[in-house]
Amino acid sequence: MEEKASTAIAGISHDRDSIINLDHGDPTMFEPFWKEVGDSATVVIPGWQKMSYFSDPRNLCWFLEPEFANEAQRLHQIAGNAVTDDRHIIVGVGSTQLIHAALFALASTEARQPVNVISAAPYYSMYSGIADFMKSGMFHWAGDAATFNGDDNFIELVCSPNNPDGEIRHAVRGNEAGKRVHDMAYCWPQYTPMRHPADHDIMLFTVSKATGHAGTRIGWALVKDAEVARKMAKFIEMNTIGVSKDSQVRAAKILKVIADGYELPDLEAGIKFFHFGRWLLANRWQRLRQAIKVSGRFSLPQFPSEFCEFFKEHAETYPGFAWLRCEDQTIEDLEVFFKTLNILTRNGRQFGVGPEYVRVSMLDRDANFDVFIKRISSLE
Ligand code: PMP
Repeated sequence: MEEKASTAIAGISHDRDSIINLDHGDPTMFEPFWKEVGDSATVVIPGWQKMSYFSDPRNLCWFLEPEFANEAQRLHQIAGNAVTDDRHIIVGVGSTQLIHAALFALASTEARQPVNVISAAPYYSMYSGIADFMKSGMFHWAGDAATFNGDDNFIELVCSPNNPDGEIRHAVRGNEAGKRVHDMAYCWPQYTPMRHPADHDIMLFTVSKATGHAGTRIGWALVKDAEVARKMAKFIEMNTIGVSKDSQVRAAKILKVIADGYELPDLEAGIKFFHFGRWLLANRWQRLRQAIKVSGRFSLPQFPSEFCEFFKEHAETYPGFAWLRCEDQTIEDLEVFFKTLNILTRNGRQFGVGPEYVRVSMLDRDANFDVFIKRISSLE
């Protein structure tokens, strides 16, 4: 059938003129797994349950549902991505709210000058907006950590694996007195080899990228210091008086299904979420690299294969985003170029670098990804 005759798969039109939006990192690619899992991931909450504001009044994070905390700890143990012992868990409305909460907790309400918020470029495009949105007197965005030449009054946001380029990151301002927040949204086995459990002071995670449930709006922080954890919980109390219990119950169930898939031997084979995610991403990255090679106009970061303690074998890195660099001198702005192909991407400028870069989501539905590959493969 000619491409022009549009077909509707998953409600998406496939004709040459359809606009493919790969700007956002909307993780819909995991939907087929959850369809396959079916009712075992379904949650029913009777009308009389989960009505109180409180989940556990004895916990410093009094709005944290214990079953969510248990399942999050359990999954960290299975994945081997983070130390959970002696940590406070703070749940948030996505990890976005937790970034705000961490900045609030690490900045001082007494300071005369706002603390500088920095991150090494290319940095996640939301960091600057989050730091400056409320025009807080406590903190403000100060740009690229690599070129920041202020004093020790800083908070460095360290995203690893990094959004947008998939690099494994360490704090740029490693040995100084500044404070750090480790955003580990993509530190899961489908994206990157698991090396050893990370052990940072503040580590942020989110179901959005761990399981694909961005709409559930649940993130969590593992926090070493009780005072910092208390301030983060206070921020969330003042901001949203806690976090939806319904969402936490759903998130707990989702995490449980993944954990059960690895820990309960009597479950049927094929229910292994991280295996599914890695298989799908591996296939997409292989197709993308092939298409890029044929076109010769762009380049992609290369990643060494490393031993993965989760899969117990050497594993490749398959980031949730493709960080494309333009190698064609006739193209000045890669985002504009992709717009002419009806593909929406995010401009390198938003990540603190130049317009020769774009970030492309690798996490969209198959149908959109297929169109993306088709369009770049057909470039002269
Ligand atoms: N950190 C990073 C690096 C992200 O990519 C995202 C989502 N794009 C977030 C935090 C926020 O995720 P959410 O609020 O959906 O948990």
